[in-house]
Amino acid sequence: MALNSKDRGKILHSVARWLAGLKPVFGSKHYFEKYSYSRCVIEKLGAYRGARECPFCHKKFRRIAALVTHLIKFHSEELEEILEKCREESS
Ligand SMILES: [Zn+2]
Repeated sequence: MALNSKDRGKILHSVARWLAGLKPVFGSKHYFEKYSYSRCVIEKLGAYRGARECPFCHKKFRRIAALVTHLIKFHSEELEEILEKCREESS
């Protein structure tokens, strides 16, 4: 499944919000859990959900919104790598 950059951005944002323990901001249409590879993503990152800690650099956050912003700003590539890997594994 090829995603255009707009959808990719939304899914990255959705994963970041999920990691922070939040609900999707774009609605269920773009919530990554609707995709078949989400189980693989949850396996890889689920332990960090709601932990207020960055799974990539282990920085801790007091504000959930700051963690979401941090993930998008600094770890989009890592998140995308995980999504890619999971997409390959589940296809
Ligand atoms: Zn980080």
